Formats: sequence, structure tokens, C-alpha cells
Amino acid sequence: MELDLTIKQIHKGLVNKEFTVLELTKAYLDRIKKRDKDIFSLMSINDQGAIKHAKEIDKDISLGKKIPLLAGIPLLVKDNILVKGMKATCSSKILENYIAPYDATCIKRLKEQGAIILGKTNLDEFAMGSSTENSAFFSTKNPVDLERVPGGSSGGSAAGVADNFCAYALGSDTGGSIRQPASFCGVVGLKPTYGAVSRYGLVAFGSSLDQIGPITKNIEDAKIVFDVISGKDPLDSTSVDFLSGDTKLDISKLKIGVPKEYFVDGMDKEVERSIKEKIEKLEKMGAKVQRVSLPHAKYVVPAYYIINTAEASANLARFDGIKYGLSKNDQKDLLNVYLATKGEGFGDEVKRRIMLGTYVLSSGYYDAYYSKAQKVRALVKKDFDNAFKKVDVIITPTTPTPAFRLGEKTNDLIEMYLNDIFTASINLAGLPAVSVPSGFVKKLPIGIQIIGKPFQENTILNVAQLI
Ligand code: GLN
Repeated sequence: MELDLTIKQIHKGLVNKEFTVLELTKAYLDRIKKRDKDIFSLMSINDQGAIKHAKEIDKDISLGKKIPLLAGIPLLVKDNILVKGMKATCSSKILENYIAPYDATCIKRLKEQGAIILGKTNLDEFAMGSSTENSAFFSTKNPVDLERVPGGSSGGSAAGVADNFCAYALGSDTGGSIRQPASFCGVVGLKPTYGAVSRYGLVAFGSSLDQIGPITKNIEDAKIVFDVISGKDPLDSTSVDFLSGDTKLDISKLKIGVPKEYFVDGMDKEVERSIKEKIEKLEKMGAKVQRVSLPHAKYVVPAYYIINTAEASANLARFDGIKYGLSKNDQKDLLNVYLATKGEGFGDEVKRRIMLGTYVLSSGYYDAYYSKAQKVRALVKKDFDNAFKKVDVIITPTTPTPAFRLGEKTNDLIEMYLNDIFTASINLAGLPAVSVPSGFVKKLPIGIQIIGKPFQENTILNVAQLI
């Protein structure tokens, strides 16, 4: 059974009875069994549930019922997205045994289509990181080179898609967590416009930055999944209905911006060359390429790390040993229950962000840090608004380098945080961006990032298709 089929190919195969949902599901489960002992993509597996569900869809097909496009097609879900009855650990000890009491809206929508959930994937604890090395349980390996990281925080999802554990996966992106692992593993990752996809049922990290999005093997699949999971949800007041740009692309009218600040010193020369080649190709195909300026680019990483930590410190206050998950309740008083639970339940990176976030919000420091970072955020957004007066899309590398070695950056936080240099600006500005494979550097995949105007997902995906 071929496992790297597109969603439409699988759908056709099922409808034409070339194979059954059960055969397909078992084939992915076999692949997981064989390979995940080396890759470590999965936090938990839903083999029995998936097989039961597969049989139900097969029955519908055999009765001649018309099935939706995603029916019977298996996916993996990042372990910070709630699937009712399954664990949602966020790869944290504090939620090690937490079982989701309801479905996230995106899961509800996929289930309505008959999607088959195979399991939940590993991440950096609470999605804080760029390598999955911050998972409290184990690090996921990059299927292309097992000595290297798959990226993060959606590393388990990206590795699973790249190694054909599933047809597609869901990730979440606060500063790059869908796009960077997609780039490192050689797959497609779409971070939707803020508000395009409901965050209901996504464990909150930075609420003004977080978005759920698809990680897929090709652009067409990303479009299909995005169409199903997006749109207004009464359970998330920041979600909206929208029209996602033109479905057809006229390349002779396409204006591409290339920010001069994004081709920086310290960037891998081969990455730079490979991306520039792709841009030249688009130019030869008829697109107009021009330089644009994003003058506040150098403040993106500092502003992002103030805003994400501030929001994380507020969001993670709920894990107090009383309401959810781990509870060290054998203490002499309530304060000590809090202290013992958080002390034992959170890992180093999560503690670091809570402390930093609490500090930047504290009276006396608020104006100097949090308030200033919000002003920088407005300027970063304005830079994009100005650039988008001249161009339709902006193209950059997704990351400055290909996948790094496990352990290579764990002792150098700044190096680790600099992974977000090309991606976090998009979350600060709330824009859509997709990372699409752009060939190999030193035998490792690299991604090219296409950024669009708000709700122009179709446009960026069409440009990605050309690449
Ligand atoms: N690497 C970034 C961080 O550590 C992005 C994480 C994310 O998008 N969830 O915050």
C-alpha cells in the first residue's frame, strides 16, 4: 500500500474501492510501529479507536453513501490540541495524565468529515521551543537524519508527515512552530491569519499569537485541510469568516517583495543562494520582483520573547494543582500545593518563560518591557502594511539554516531563540504564511516562506504551488 498519496488520490482510491479505509489505516499504523521506535513522533496512539472508526467509514462506502473528501483519511494531532477522550499532555509532566473532556473546534470539524485520528504527537513542552528537545518525555528525531532535530515545537507532527505515518497532521504556530519544523523535515506547513482558525480547544500559550494549521505533503492538501478547519466559531471570539483570496493566480500580475533585512549576515550562504534561485525562477515565469524594507526586523525576536512570555505567564497560571492535571496535594497549605505542583510539573524552559513573563508585566517594569514590546509590535505590523502597499506577497527563507544536530543549541538560548528570526514577525503582525520545501542544502531539506496579506491564504498557497 502506497503511503505518500495526496488526499484527493486517497479519496479516489476509497471511492473506487481500490483499497479500504481499514487497509489504509492499518498500513499507517504498521508504518508507525516499524519506524516510531527511531523517530519518536508520537505521544500516544489511537490504534483501536482508529480501526473502529475505519470500519464505520468502510460500511458507509459499501452502502454507497457519498463521503466527504477527508472521510477515512488518517491524521496525527499535536498533543496541545484537545481530542475528546484522548490524552492532551502538551508534552508536560503537569498534564501527563490529563484526558481531554471535549473536542477542539478544528477536531470537531474534521470528525464531522469522517477524518480518522491515529494519535497525538510530541512537542516542546507547551509549544515553547524550536526542536522538541523541551518535551518532558523524549526528543523527536528528524526522519531525514536521525542525528538531527525535526524542529519545533510541532516537531512530532512534521516528522510524522515526513515519514508517512499519516496523510497529514495538525500543528500550532505561535512564533514559527508549524513553519520551522515543516522546513526542517521537508514538508508543507501553513500558519493561517490570526482569527482564520478557531483556537477553541488549543491549550493556550500566547493567545494573541497562537494559530492552529495543517502540516501536509503538498500544497493542495494544505488548502483542503485549511478550508475545513477555518471560519468563524462562536466559541472563539477572535475567529472570523472570510474569503481567502483569489483561487486563480495570474503570474504576470504577481508582485513579489523580498525584504532586504532578511538576507542577513550569519545566514547559511547555501540557504541564501537556494532561495534566491527560486525567486529568480518566479521572475522568469513573469512575476515582478522588488526589494521591500521591513526596518524593524531586528527588534522582532526581543519583542516576541517579551510578548510570548508575558502571555504564557498569564495562561499557565491555571496549572496550579487544583483544577487540572498533576496535584501535589500532600502539602501543609495551599501555597505549598501550588509551589510543589509547579515546581515538579513544569520543565526548565516553561519555568524560565513564566518567570520572565511575570517580570516584564510587573509594576515598575511594565512600561520598560511589555508596553514597549507592544509598541514595537505595532511598528512591525506597520512595516508589513507598508510593504503590502507595493507587493502581493513577500518571500523569505523560513529559517537561516537547515536542521541542526540534537543537543547543538540546548545550551545556548539565544541561538535557539534566533531560529524564530524569520517566522515570529508574522505572528506579531497576525499574517498568513506558508513554508514550502525549496530543495536541499547539505542533503538537508530547507523551506521557503511566502507571506501574504490578512486572509489571503489562497494567494500564498498558489505562489507556493509554483515553487
Ligand atoms: N520557537 C518559538 C518559541 O519557542 C515558537 C514556538 C511556537 O510557535 N509555538 O516560542
